[in-house]
Order: sequence, then structure tokens, then C-alpha cells
Amino acid sequence: STPAAIAAGLSAGARRGLLVKGGAVLEALRKTTTIAFDKTGTLTEGKPKVTDIVAFGRSEAQILSLAAAIEAGSSHPLALAIREAAKARAVPVPPASAETALPGRGVSGKVGGVAVMLASPQAAGAIAPLPAEIEARIAALSGEGKTVSVLLYDGKPAGLIAMRDEPRADTRDGLARLSAMGIETLMLTGDTPRTAEAIGRDLGIAVRAGLLPEDKQAIVRDLQAKGQIVVKVGDGINDAPALAAADIGVAMGGGTDVALETADAAVLHGRVMDVARLIDLSKATMGNIH
Ligand code: ADP
Ligand code: MG
Repeated sequence: STPAAIAAGLSAGARRGLLVKGGAVLEALRKTTTIAFDKTGTLTEGKPKVTDIVAFGRSEAQILSLAAAIEAGSSHPLALAIREAAKARAVPVPPASAETALPGRGVSGKVGGVAVMLASPQAAGAIAPLPAEIEARIAALSGEGKTVSVLLYDGKPAGLIAMRDEPRADTRDGLARLSAMGIETLMLTGDTPRTAEAIGRDLGIAVRAGLLPEDKQAIVRDLQAKGQIVVKVGDGINDAPALAAADIGVAMGGGTDVALETADAAVLHGRVMDVARLIDLSKATMGNIH
């Protein structure tokens, strides 16, 4: 019977780490026309490593120290990378106060009573115009597919921290498989266009970059208005609005609690290929019914 076929499909998925929240989602998945992916932690490992520290005036250690101080309470992958780098280089991490996450932009706080912010070049540039030579350093690092964050100390650019996050092992194959199924794929990211395009070229996926969480949501809605059935795949860090707006939200890997709550489905092993398997599962299960 129909409910039995759906129950069998759901449990077959669960055995392979493909969690689907109910029959309605399983039935809808096969109609997918576009899949929008986050970059960090979804198409990439989400374990960026600090590759370069550039200091203007201060020492590199001081820049890392200030950054680690305001990242102490953050779960963002870039925050983890910075805390790890500070630990690896045995840089002291002073206490910070008033730490605030700025979704899609960065993080801010106070260290020794002075305002410190670590933000995307775009967000930092909106606060303090970046001199041409700093812009040139950012452009060079971004062209290598590195994510660059700017440290503002007392509202002035004091340094850069560049990080690189490698694609997941199966990202390229997973995206190729989805294309072969006739599904459009798109990367949505808050990272800068130059960094994202370097990675997108490498992986063979279209890119929309420099996006805030609400922009990602607007793009999902725009695709839906054009008749697309949109699956959004993300790890949920900063991206819950787009995940919620999509026809089907898929949480990638362990993801965050927010992602698992907001999402309609989850691929627990964190493989891009598993997103294609989710759609195959839907087609196979529904094929058994009709
Ligand atoms: P993505 O879309 O790749 O997941 P986010 O939307 O989370 O990226 O963040 C966009 C950009 O804002 C990052 O590339 C980074 O430059 C900056 N940013 C956001 N959060 C942080 C943070 N906690 N520490 C440093 N930089 C951050
Ligand atoms: Mg993110």
C-alpha cells in the first residue's frame, strides 16, 4: 500500500544516512528543478585553516590574538579556524566583552575596552574605507580561493586573516551527477565574489556571492517565483532563513541544531552525492506507488 511504500522508502533512506521528515517531503523531492548550496561547510569541508596573516603596524601575533578574543564564543567555521591558529602559535587570547555575531558579515566585540571587529572585506569597507594597497592584498588572496576577513581595531583596518577551506572529496562528482539528472545547481555564499568564483570555477557550479542571509532567502524566493522547485542545502550557520524559504531544506552533515530543526531532510554523512541519492530515493519510492 501507499503508506507502506513510503515507510519503506523512509527507512531505506535512514539506513543510508538520508533522513527525510515524512512522506510529503519524500514525495516532493523528485520534483526538484534547482538546488542551491551554501559554500562553507556544505560544498567545502567547513574546516578552514588560517593560511596568511597580514598586519598593518601591529605584529601578526597581535592581530591573531585580537581576532581569537572576539571569536571565543562563535561557532562559525572561521571562528574555529582562528581559535585553532591562536592555539597552534601559542598566542595569548585576552578576554573580550560584548561579543556579537553579525550573520553574513563577521563578529564584533570589545578587547581592553576598545571596539574590535572581524568582518568580510565588504562589511569592513562599509565601516572604514579600505586603502588601495589593502584592497590589492585582499584581491590577491581571494584570487587563490582564500576567504579574507578584515580586522578593524577602533574602527580602523589593522590586519587581514586569510583562510582556505577545501572542497569536500565528492563535491565535484556530486555536482556533475545532479547536472546529469537535469537539475540546475547554484552556490549561494556570503564570501566575496573573487574567492567564490575561484572555487566555483574549480567545482563547475554557478555562483552568487557577497550575499547576506536575507539575500540568500530572496534568491530562493525569486527562483520559486519563476516556477522552480528549489532545494536549499546548507549547514544552517547563518543560513536558516533560506533553508526555511526553500521548497525543501536539506541540512548537510551533522549541521547545527538550527539546521536540523529548520530542515525537511538531512544527509548525515555530509556527501554532496547523497543529495542526488535523496532525489533518487524519492523517484524510486514514488515509482512504487504510481
Ligand atoms: P558562507 O555563505 O560562505 O557560509 P557567511 O555568510 O557565514 O559565509 O559569512 C560571510 C563572510 O562574512 C565570510 O566569508 C567572512 O568574511 C565573514 N564572516 C562571517 N562570520 C564571521 C566570523 N565569525 N569570523 C570571521 N569572519 C566572518
Ligand atoms: Mg555559512
